[in-house]
Amino acid sequence: NSAASDVALKEYHILSMFTKVDQNHGLQEKFKICMKSMVEHASFRGTVNVQGIIIVLSPVSLHSAQQLAAQLVPLVQTMQRHFSAGTSSYFGDSIFFLSVAMHRILPLVILLDLDLKFKTNIRVLFTEFDRFKENAAIGIAYEMQPVYRHALWQYKRENADTPVGEPPPHGFPGFNSGVLLLDLNRLRRSVIYNELLTPAAVELLADLFHFQGHLGDQDFFTLVGVVHPELFHVLSCGWNRQLCTWWRQQGYAAVFDDYFRCNDAVHIYHGNCNTAIPND
Ligand code: UDP
Ligand code: MN
Repeated sequence: NSAASDVALKEYHILSMFTKVDQNHGLQEKFKICMKSMVEHASFRGTVNVQGIIIVLSPVSLHSAQQLAAQLVPLVQTMQRHFSAGTSSYFGDSIFFLSVAMHRILPLVILLDLDLKFKTNIRVLFTEFDRFKENAAIGIAYEMQPVYRHALWQYKRENADTPVGEPPPHGFPGFNSGVLLLDLNRLRRSVIYNELLTPAAVELLADLFHFQGHLGDQDFFTLVGVVHPELFHVLSCGWNRQLCTWWRQQGYAAVFDDYFRCNDAVHIYHGNCNTAIPND
């Protein structure tokens, strides 16, 4: 399939978005651990992809700088001419136009939180794209706390036997977006996904599930995961081993471990809710 050949073809794109890092010492520490552990474990046969860290104000992308800039030039050079007045407009500046043409040059993207620590070569995570079934466009792991059991409480009361908000392997606990694989071509082409992005569809989803969340994109992916599970490839818990245990003490002690346990090998630790990551 096209995802497989794209990966075989050599391009690995990793994006991390963040803001306010300059004012946030905690985030700077997370950034260091995340990047250091990624680079320590990373190895890409045949091509060198991690050439440097490009800081584009915000968002920030870790990427092959020159390669990306070179691909952007034909797409944005006219814009550079018209919209970069007063700057030296050297070759590398095309990178500042990444935002407008990203969809043309990045077929597959992995989006990462900063509070991560790698135990495995991130290249292996790209091979998960090869395992996407025909209609899948998003790779994501389950949420490992009963937060959606809580948020979907009213829906669950009205739908007694629903697997929604229940723990794995039989239930659907919702998703965690700290490690996110996006097949941008498939997302762009998906009539269903783009329909789900419309205001009317979002209203309908929130109504249907009596849902008011606070976790942003992962709330959206979770609700979409209920109505269109075929859009998602579920990653092993080892690819996003979340460590936050906040919900255990919120009245969920009896069921917490059903959500939290992960018997697979840990590839990426996720120190969510500011949880320290073990030094093993
Ligand atoms: N983030 C950021 N600035 C902030 C807070 C968060 O850029 O002040 C970004 C950062 O990439 C972080 C992500 O948003 O990893 C999600 O936040 P966080 O990991 O703290 O949420 P959690 O995983 O604990 O729910
Ligand atoms: Mn996080």
